[in-house]
Amino acid sequence: MPPEAELRSCDLILSGGTILTLDAADAVFADGAIAVLGRHIVAIGPREAVEAAWTAPRRMECTGRLLMPGLVNVHNHTPLMITRGMIEDLGFAPMFTPGIPQGHRLSEDEAGILARLGVYEMLRNGCTTIVDFYRYPQALARAHAELGSRAVIAGRVHDADPEELTRGRYVYEPGLARETIRENADLVERFDGYDVGRIRCDWAPHAPDTCSDACLREVAEMARGHAGNVHTHLCQSPVEVEQVHSRSGLTPPQALEAAGLLDPRLIAAHCIHVDPRDYARMGAAGIAMAYTPIGNAKTGRIAPVLDLAEAGIGITLCTDTFSGDLFEAMRWAVAMQRIRSADGFVLDARTALRWATQAGAERLGLGDAVGALTTGRRADILIMDMETPGLAPVIDGYGILVWSANGANVRSVIVDGRLVIEDGRLTTADGPALVREAQAVAERLWAAAGRRPVTRRTAA
Ligand SMILES: [Zn+2]
Repeated sequence: MPPEAELRSCDLILSGGTILTLDAADAVFADGAIAVLGRHIVAIGPREAVEAAWTAPRRMECTGRLLMPGLVNVHNHTPLMITRGMIEDLGFAPMFTPGIPQGHRLSEDEAGILARLGVYEMLRNGCTTIVDFYRYPQALARAHAELGSRAVIAGRVHDADPEELTRGRYVYEPGLARETIRENADLVERFDGYDVGRIRCDWAPHAPDTCSDACLREVAEMARGHAGNVHTHLCQSPVEVEQVHSRSGLTPPQALEAAGLLDPRLIAAHCIHVDPRDYARMGAAGIAMAYTPIGNAKTGRIAPVLDLAEAGIGITLCTDTFSGDLFEAMRWAVAMQRIRSADGFVLDARTALRWATQAGAERLGLGDAVGALTTGRRADILIMDMETPGLAPVIDGYGILVWSANGANVRSVIVDGRLVIEDGRLTTADGPALVREAQAVAERLWAAAGRRPVTRRTAA
């Protein structure tokens, strides 16, 4: 061992524990260590080797822990937490469901309070890279900036009047397109690249039916010079397919293609009601899908993920807001395809883990930065509790994480070298206060929509 003076200095050493790097070689260290300097991993390997070369003012003992890369959750709308626990029995998407607090009726402050609940929950469950888009996107960006997540934020561009949608009618208002495009443009201008790139801003046309063809073309034009992604919903419902067809005679993927949006930058959520004749078109265009298994299941549908993957579409994973637990989504992702597949026993735990880490990172253009634990990458690290009954036995590591683990097994979370969850507690804000504030906003808005929350003795 070299003398003390030859040790190199870093900020933090995670020492001991089993490290699943999920890197290209699937390297595992049974008694490993990770050295973190600033925002980066500067060394990872056997504990003896790392500790022989590095010293740090802070050392976290990780014996009895499982260390793995932070999860990449590629599609969310955090203010929609307002409908969680209620929308599931009412309709397929809040925007189309009457009698609920609609997103466009939230104030910017209320959107921000609900966004903080969503970000807190996802961080607490081990999601370190989060795609989040909705109205008031700057409120979302502020929530991620404050709580410490890595985020890709966008607006919610559409020109279909949302009040008319809840009545089952499509009425396109050019003023709405202008307003929501400006909101997205202002976001990009203000927050893109914030905190050395921890926050990136992209473009998000809501869907091919809630955007007119003119609106889709306008977003494509705005996003042309943008280096990031375009996020959308695609083939989420038969209503969408029917609306796009009646408008233009095209399928939703064809409408995106006609607008200039069907390209490798596109990450399309859902992809449930896809005409099989479009599989090859989507694959050749190089798009990715955000697979939403829990959301699919709640509406009784399963996306044809295996067919889409075979056609060349990149698969990534998301919880789409209604749960922040991507471990749960991994399990559902595999199980649902086994239900759907004629072959039954398809996919495996390692594939689901790849979708939730490296595959998502690559599709976001962050494939060299996050998604695996290697020297030189950003330090986005989960420290899982291996001394809990649900996370044992650890044999190959992948199986137990996908088939048994849940977000509550995450003890600590590091994003960009910063400890944002420590022993289950949010370090960047008062977690319980965030929950109370979101509860108060939700009670008020649901009461205004005519539903008396059980937490209230009398109607508001
Ligand atoms: Zn969505």
